[in-house]
Amino acid sequence: MTAFATTSTCSKLPFGRKIGVPDVVHDAKIVKSFASFLLFLFFCFSGIAQTQKEFYTKKLNTYFSKDHKIDNYVSIGDYGIAIISPDSVKVPGSRPEIVLNWRDVNKLVPVISTISETELKKLLIDKRDSFNYYFQKDTIRSKEQLHSLNGMKIAIDPGHIGGAYHMGETESRCMTLVIPQPLIRGEDSVKQIQMVEGNFSFFTALILKHKLDSMGAQVMLTRSDTGVSSLGITFFEWKKKIKHKDYVDSLEKNNLISDKGLNLLKKHLDDKQLFAQVFASVDMANRAKKINAFQPDLTVVIHYNVNEKNAGWNHTTDKDYVMTFVPGCVTSEDMNKLAGRLNFLRLLLSNDIENSVKLSSAVVKKLSTKLNVPIAQKDDATYLGQACLTTPEKGVYARDLALTRLIKGPLVYGEPLYQDNNTECFLLTAQDDTVNGFSVSKRIELVAEAYFEGIVEYIR
Ligand SMILES: [Zn+2]
Repeated sequence: MTAFATTSTCSKLPFGRKIGVPDVVHDAKIVKSFASFLLFLFFCFSGIAQTQKEFYTKKLNTYFSKDHKIDNYVSIGDYGIAIISPDSVKVPGSRPEIVLNWRDVNKLVPVISTISETELKKLLIDKRDSFNYYFQKDTIRSKEQLHSLNGMKIAIDPGHIGGAYHMGETESRCMTLVIPQPLIRGEDSVKQIQMVEGNFSFFTALILKHKLDSMGAQVMLTRSDTGVSSLGITFFEWKKKIKHKDYVDSLEKNNLISDKGLNLLKKHLDDKQLFAQVFASVDMANRAKKINAFQPDLTVVIHYNVNEKNAGWNHTTDKDYVMTFVPGCVTSEDMNKLAGRLNFLRLLLSNDIENSVKLSSAVVKKLSTKLNVPIAQKDDATYLGQACLTTPEKGVYARDLALTRLIKGPLVYGEPLYQDNNTECFLLTAQDDTVNGFSVSKRIELVAEAYFEGIVEYIR
């Protein structure tokens, strides 16, 4: 880890100053006890700083040690925490981009998750207001723990787009399972099951919303229907819109499209490529933006999983696991942009990760017991070992996904079961339940119920 205490910041350390003894104090005993008192304060402060240093160093190792290059961009020392920009990394001894002493850290911890990226830049980079003045302003809203669902704001993101099977093919989130059946009249027979993940996630979200609404919560869904993106339009409508320069400019202005995405729009991509390489990240950035603008007390991201080793997903598997993801594991690539570095600082300082672990742990336990699906261990899927870090809670993994990284506040990113499992595929497509006039399965209702109970337990 880079030791930033060796930089010029060091000369400003309060510990370097001499402690003056008031002239009016002549009694040696009083001077001695006064000095002892100051020394006591000094050691108390050093002790607190030491504890904070240990706490954040441990947190860095627990949730961000997947990409070791991250250590080049952050320094945790006796003085506090520093963030180093890629330019500074290249020049040894240059000043860190952000330097926070432990008092600054303490002020930021309860509010960093509620400050917009623009505000945070003004405070930490442009330094328009002094730290003290900034925290006296009443624009900062500290979010303390809420104790009931009444008035609570909950965001739900139903993963993917869904809709017709063709849309599922465009977003590569559908499958047709071919299942051999017992011989009928001496002839081979097969059953085909078609599934579109974005529809399962949407109806789960809708059922969960009804349950939370009835408890007095204010619930926001990032998309309003199957087949519709978070932008309020279908992918094919978006494809028409991007032919207009004004629309593309508005995407750029709202930070929804990257420079890479803009360049790709100039190329001739087929629908699947355009979806995967440009539209998916625009839609994802918009989901995060919608959620953060809503300022929820917690967020639920709903997905359904598959067995990664069953690629092609045209036959069933006997594997079935439940797992959840929380923020962490950000990569050194994320640190190339200031937005990425500010976001990393938010994750390091705020309780967003710790609260997400608590929420996800409550949800994953409910999902496992209600669905009777085992909780995934690290070795149960390749990506759990390769792309994730384990957390102190079973079935909760830190992973650098667009939404775990961008959403502020506690979140649970759930993957409750494997759709291609030989039992699940029948249960999921059973159509033995109804939601808003649509036929869905009781299995989906059970998943929504598990999320609901997990959320209630977390709040309690
Ligand atoms: Zn998914």
